[in-house]
Amino acid sequence: MKIISINAGSSSLKFSLFDMDTESVIASGLFERIGIEGSCYTIKCRGEKVEQEVELVDHSDAVRILLEKLIDLNIIESLDEIDGVGHRLVHGKDKYSSSVVITDEVIEDLDKFKEFAPLHNPANILGISAFREALPGVTMVGVFDTAFHQTMDETSYLYPVPYSWYEKYGVRKYGFHGTSHRYISDTTAKLVDKENLRLISCHIGNGGSISAVLDGKCVDTSMGLTPLAGIMMGTRSGDIDPSIITYVMEKEGKNASEVIDDLNKRSGLLGLSEYSHDMRDVLARADEGDENCILARDKYVRSIVNYIGQYHLLLGGVDVIVFTAGVGENSTPIRKLVCEKLLPLGVKIDLEKNNIRGEITKISTEDSKVQVYVIPTDEELMIARDTLLKLEAR
Ligand code: AMP
Repeated sequence: MKIISINAGSSSLKFSLFDMDTESVIASGLFERIGIEGSCYTIKCRGEKVEQEVELVDHSDAVRILLEKLIDLNIIESLDEIDGVGHRLVHGKDKYSSSVVITDEVIEDLDKFKEFAPLHNPANILGISAFREALPGVTMVGVFDTAFHQTMDETSYLYPVPYSWYEKYGVRKYGFHGTSHRYISDTTAKLVDKENLRLISCHIGNGGSISAVLDGKCVDTSMGLTPLAGIMMGTRSGDIDPSIITYVMEKEGKNASEVIDDLNKRSGLLGLSEYSHDMRDVLARADEGDENCILARDKYVRSIVNYIGQYHLLLGGVDVIVFTAGVGENSTPIRKLVCEKLLPLGVKIDLEKNNIRGEITKISTEDSKVQVYVIPTDEELMIARDTLLKLEAR
């Protein structure tokens, strides 16, 4: 059984082709700069990489060339081998609490909900339309970033604002990275045999969110109505006093969207360090003694620790903390700095075991009260798994 996982952005399309009998990746790649000059693609297969500049006017071009190349490169013999296509979809509001077979109604909903994800939902529709055109008749499944968080109760998802904003406009916490947190929850449950497992899943990459998960169900998560809320990120501020927005609007003569843009694109590590949004750069300069980078690093660690402390209380204790995504999987120093601050919870890590990148590893010591793991996330596999489940149910 072969399934393609698709992540369509406004000018990009990422894919992974899985053999679901072994859950292995047969080929993966990226089509970039769609609709922009200098468009190109990269396809990786059998340890080799094919890169080529090619005109990609729109997503349909990218999908057409992708399918042609899968055959040209002998990755598949015919398009009939593709049993299903899974799409990463960003915002399903409170209508979608699990993955769905994509129908016209799902596409209409993506369009309806686009004001909550103005860049992502329209791009998701482009990806779906391109595959519908290229592979008519092949089942397509939508896997929403927001779905995993639908188990939150209203004390978690409501904001203390006029209730009518929720009723009239859907102002509430939706949460994101749900497919990643669900993957982490499923993988942890296989590694740690415990009933009613209390998990804090830290997805910390360029974007970042932390979820409190009880027995596989999300109880709370740090992102909100949009991905701007929660922990400090590469370029996003995370939680701030909302009055800052009107204050800066007046001071800088900006409108609200411009200030929100500053909070999304020029804040976080980049804003405080005044140097880079990339943790590797910030850590390197911090090691050289750069004060802004030290501040950015320490504030980043603080914001993660604050959420872990909060979720520890919410869950009534914690059995496992998992680090995942770019920073969580790769950064030995950030994990060390966070875990040092978790000593009051009885967290102890083994510094040698912590010296790893991108491998499933238990980094806590045997006498640690909380087990700490590094688990590389795999949203693409999760999307392929959900697609397979839907195909099997048909
Ligand atoms: P992601 O959004 O999950 O792809 O994560 C991307 C981020 O991971 C980058 O912006 C880097 O800040 C961070 N990252 C990747 N590798 C490392 C590393 N070895 N040390 C620290 N940060 C890293």
